[in-house]
Amino acid sequence: MLSQFPRVTLAHLPTPLEHAPRLSEALGGPQIYIKRDDCTGLATGGNKTRKLEFVMADALENKADVVITQGAVQSNHARQTAAAACKLGMACEMIFEHRVTDADDAYLNSGNVFLDRMYGATIHEVEKGTDMDAAMEKRADELRAEGKTPYIISGGASNKIGALGYIDCALETMTQADEQEVDIGHIVHATGSGGTQAGLIVGLQTSGSDIGLLGIGVASPYEEQIDKVWRVAEPTAEYVGSPGCVRREDIKVNTDYTGEGYGLSTPEMEEAVLMLARLEGILFDPVYSGKGLAGMIDLVRKGYFDQSENIVFLHTGGSAGLFGYSSILSL
Ligand SMILES: *Cc1c(COP(=O)(O)O)cnc(C)c1O
Repeated sequence: MLSQFPRVTLAHLPTPLEHAPRLSEALGGPQIYIKRDDCTGLATGGNKTRKLEFVMADALENKADVVITQGAVQSNHARQTAAAACKLGMACEMIFEHRVTDADDAYLNSGNVFLDRMYGATIHEVEKGTDMDAAMEKRADELRAEGKTPYIISGGASNKIGALGYIDCALETMTQADEQEVDIGHIVHATGSGGTQAGLIVGLQTSGSDIGLLGIGVASPYEEQIDKVWRVAEPTAEYVGSPGCVRREDIKVNTDYTGEGYGLSTPEMEEAVLMLARLEGILFDPVYSGKGLAGMIDLVRKGYFDQSENIVFLHTGGSAGLFGYSSILSL
């Protein structure tokens, strides 16, 4: 299904599907497996790298010499895009929204943004609430006027092209589960701009799989989060030749674990991040994967999942952000 689409190699694939025995035991419920998309390799890894394999290939097809993207100052997506651009010999510009108020020095200079500077990305900073798409268009116009060929990558690379990377991840995970003789009941992951969940659901639906897919929201209210996934899933289904394979009501999200908002700490997130570090030696981030994990842990404790099922937590990465958010954890 995916071989018809242009693709560049950026990620180390397949990423491991690992059992988490100590976490499973500590929670005393279903067996938990972790799909290690924090190990995609590029720029310390993360979920944007799979998407970028298709998006950067499209940029190359369009003869781009510079890519423009946007996000928060500690955007994992921006970091992986900057590295991909270096690897492919393109320039990279990013527009950062000051989404987090009261940001400290670590947030503004360490973690992801430190790596963006290492990769030589050109950084533009704008106020919270700026129309980010318009800001990218404006920058693209300026670059065109300078004779460059810019290519705009939507926030999180969440569009029908980027989502192909998560169709691939769904297929890869099902193949690994077969090989390991693990019958997966649910896949759970942090959902933000929606491309990861959109790709996964199209991958599962087109395979006729009965695996449940649950996105744990990290930013938006419930209906808005479903819309974000839906707005990518619908065109993605059509793009791969299966229009209508996903309905809006098939998209399952839970936004109970966002707390006060994007990038703001919750006690459940702190507990979850430290639990995984200390039980399994695996690093999660406070903004995305840590909140997703907090949701999964709480749902296991509440008996949401069947005791006998196997759950895959898709680890979407983000550990580079730990250094930008070091003050968030009370250590
Ligand atoms: C971007 C990101 C997500 C969310 O993925 P979307 O495709 O934007 O929904 C989850 N975890 C991490 C670490 C991310 O960087």
